[in-house]
Amino acid sequence: MVDANKIKNAVKKSGQFISSVGSGKMQPHKHCRICHSPISLASEPRVCKETSCIEKNQQDEKNQRSVRIWMFVFFGIFAASFLVPTAFRLLG
Ligand SMILES: [Zn+2]
Repeated sequence: MVDANKIKNAVKKSGQFISSVGSGKMQPHKHCRICHSPISLASEPRVCKETSCIEKNQQDEKNQRSVRIWMFVFFGIFAASFLVPTAFRLLG
């Protein structure tokens, strides 16, 4: 059973959203990658001015960096496990 009122409300809401975008000239902008509040295009890193967002972003970047390092390490081991026997075969 479909709730007609719910649909009506949803349509109203989406209509409001479209009209608000259309009438109030939307400036090109970015969103804070943590809390998704609009920030200026020039903002770099892509976070708002909230300290919690800046800290969270730095933490995420640190995590990403260590993930990348571990990927290189594992790839190195993976590649070595192929290359070392090949090298031995070539030498021997
Ligand atoms: Zn934020």
